[in-house]
Amino acid sequence: MVSSPAQAPKRIAILGSTGSIGDSTIDLIERNPQAYRVVALTANGNWQKLAAQAKRLNPEFVALADPAGYGDLKAALAGTATHVAAGPEAVCMAASLPSDWVMAAIVGAAGLKPTLAAVERGAVVALANKECLVCAGDLFMAAVRAHKATLLPVDSEHNAIFQVFDFAQKDKINKIILTASGGPFRTWALKDMAGVTPAQAVAHPNWSMGAKISVDSASMMNKGLEVIEAHHLFGLNNDCIDILVHPQSVVHSMVEYADGSTLAQLGTPDMRTPIAYALGWPCRMAAPTGQLDLAKLGALTFEAPDLTRFPALRLARAALQTGGAAPTILNAANEVAVARFLAGEVGFLDIAAIVEHTLASVPLKSVATLDDVLAVDGEARRVAAAKNVSAAAAE
Ligand code: NAD
Ligand code: MG
Repeated sequence: MVSSPAQAPKRIAILGSTGSIGDSTIDLIERNPQAYRVVALTANGNWQKLAAQAKRLNPEFVALADPAGYGDLKAALAGTATHVAAGPEAVCMAASLPSDWVMAAIVGAAGLKPTLAAVERGAVVALANKECLVCAGDLFMAAVRAHKATLLPVDSEHNAIFQVFDFAQKDKINKIILTASGGPFRTWALKDMAGVTPAQAVAHPNWSMGAKISVDSASMMNKGLEVIEAHHLFGLNNDCIDILVHPQSVVHSMVEYADGSTLAQLGTPDMRTPIAYALGWPCRMAAPTGQLDLAKLGALTFEAPDLTRFPALRLARAALQTGGAAPTILNAANEVAVARFLAGEVGFLDIAAIVEHTLASVPLKSVATLDDVLAVDGEARRVAAAKNVSAAAAE
């Protein structure tokens, strides 16, 4: 199916437009100006970057979650047709405005309410924000079904699976295989990992990403979060979701069928491919990524994950198995632990230790409603922030 030149431009909202996924989304849009019309952009505190994006894209509405920069943003956009608002509710409003396609690219559980706001108006949502599904997966997927929203996975592994998953023959799918680069410490001894710095942890060997997901990739918590994400997106149990370490990040994930076929999606490690798949959906569009040169690559390698050096994988699987509030607690504790690590307050290995402690300490209350989720999330954050790990950090 080829899109007709007479088609009206797709109206786009980007939640988290100033981040890494936001940048890649805008890059694709600016290369196809006649096909897209940006109606809303949001950011947390970086009003300068949001103002610069708004001047280029002329959205109807921009929202800054942190109201501190409101005056500056308003002044920077004076004389333009863009309406400026601030505060978390304004970010939800950006998601609620009529648009044809919403990129959910806020990092962390902060993205839950705005992404739900888009889901609740039955929008087509390109989902990068995996934490939404980790902290409130059952509730989130119930809202997707109730409001007939369309969810397009953007996370590269889930996008790969989405491309090769035969939804009409789900009973013939044995399992899915999430590939993982293994991060910058894939070959490191545990004792060396104790002393890694934030700069080392955010230097991912293959992907260029925001700080939080880069640390998650280094601890492999990212893959743990992705197992939970896959469980909700594809309706598969823990034991039907494998993890395979693949350092080249070329095979982005696979689906194994009952007849012995395993289908995979391959590509260079560039998020503009999965974003383009979601942006063009249901058609394919061109993306400016390099094409794969397998002859030049020569070899693709695979290995089993090491649960001893990467305990986050074990914690995430256990949380999924426990269900209920456990993934909510895991996610919140991890967000706090990563922030503490990036601030130089705790060591790298303390991240998993803080998550484990929080999972053992916070009661597994019901998470049937959004208020329940937010209460458990808040309690887990308090426990994770208070956990004293000075002995481990000093190791
Ligand atoms: P990033 O840190 O580069 O950007 C995050 C965006 O969220 C920014 O625009 C920021 O202003 C906004 N934000 C942060 N806190 C906020 C708050 N409290 N309220 C409102 N907005 C807030 O992160 P990223 O790398 O672009 O990742 C975004 C999401 O996409 C994450 O959930 C991540 O796991 C997922 N993802 C990213 C990649 C990648 O390659 N970067 C790949 C797969 C999935
Ligand atoms: Mg991923």
